[in-house]
Amino acid sequence: MKPMLKDCITKNNINDIESPCYVLNYESLQYNVKLLSSIAEQSGAKILVALKGYSFWREFGPIREYLHGATCSGVNETRLAYEEIANNSEAKEICVFSPAYKESQIKEIIKYATHIIFNSLNQYSNLAHIIKSKESIQIGLRINPMYSEVETDIYNPCVKQSRLGIIPEEFYKNIESLARKTNQESKEFFKEHFDGLHFHTLCEQDSAVLERTLEHVIKHFGDYIKECKWINFGGGHHITRKDYDIYRLIRIIKDFKKEYNTEVFLEPGEAVGWQCGDLIGEVIDIVENHGKVAILDISASCHMPDCLEMPYRPECYKISRQSCEIEDDLGIGIGEYQYRFGGPTCLAGDIIGDYSFSTPLNIGDRIAFCDMMHYTIVKNTTFNGIELPSLGVMKNGEFKILKRFDYNHFKDRN
Ligand SMILES: *Cc1c(COP(=O)(O)O)cnc(C)c1O
Repeated sequence: MKPMLKDCITKNNINDIESPCYVLNYESLQYNVKLLSSIAEQSGAKILVALKGYSFWREFGPIREYLHGATCSGVNETRLAYEEIANNSEAKEICVFSPAYKESQIKEIIKYATHIIFNSLNQYSNLAHIIKSKESIQIGLRINPMYSEVETDIYNPCVKQSRLGIIPEEFYKNIESLARKTNQESKEFFKEHFDGLHFHTLCEQDSAVLERTLEHVIKHFGDYIKECKWINFGGGHHITRKDYDIYRLIRIIKDFKKEYNTEVFLEPGEAVGWQCGDLIGEVIDIVENHGKVAILDISASCHMPDCLEMPYRPECYKISRQSCEIEDDLGIGIGEYQYRFGGPTCLAGDIIGDYSFSTPLNIGDRIAFCDMMHYTIVKNTTFNGIELPSLGVMKNGEFKILKRFDYNHFKDRN
């Protein structure tokens, strides 16, 4: 069973946790990366953490120990991976993708990256000469297999007019035209200039979706896959979710590697930080307006942006100030004591959701929103001057504060 933060909160440590605070449960992270590492071992794939979703470098220990490296976008993430995952060395794979690089960015990125993936042949033609000054860097192209089962458009890179990945028609047209200039055959040109291909079309999905997606990847790009040293299957694999079919994933990777004789990379973000800790805040006030509205020191808008963007209603539990008793939210309209939770900003829509409990909520009670370590801290803002939550870790039953933010962080950004 996966260890969870809720089971580690006790009378002895609850008052050490300041509010608001993102609390990583170290053992949960360890559990996730060990599972990912065992899949890497059994399948032969290399697994990288996607820093877009999970950049909590203050406790990167398990990631350094168990994963093969990181996938990054742009200079800042690439440098972070080099400093904090590869320990300023060539020890790890640092894969970089950006929808478009500026020349100045590529010049920085080559100091840290092992793999650079381009989103167009245009970008390759304009920038490859800079990369070639560093021979060890491998070069890939992001392809768009024109197949995704993601239903929310803002997470679907295969919608019409998407800017993410080269569609087959453009791929063939541009490779042929470049090859013609050097009097080469297309595949010969590709093999000489590129090491791999990359696709990323999944979001919180199971390995069955990967299997169906691969059929489209192969249908459109199969001939070129044969010329690759590696294929990067992107992220969106919800591997650490309880009901994810890991055996199918292992089989898919093994079959693919055998058929095409290539290396396979996976680059999950969410699956690394999945259910690894909570955002803990407190009730500042409770007001009445056609029901009870609790105002918290946590904001949907500043601290849990996916609640509004996705949108979804996060699960939570309350921790009573007096007794430290923990009670799970019973759901909308079910428990006797019902509340709408809202944030401390002046935005009318800064509403987290509707919750209910079997006992009343009191000012000063703690509220913990579950599963808040991925796609939260990396997206936080200081909108409306709201404080950034502190960062802390629960390890061996003890809470440790890792970072506090102050006025200067707000002032610096405006
Ligand atoms: C966002 C992203 C990932 C990680 O996706 P998750 O859904 O967090 O697993 C991996 N690769 C690329 C290119 C991405 O844009």
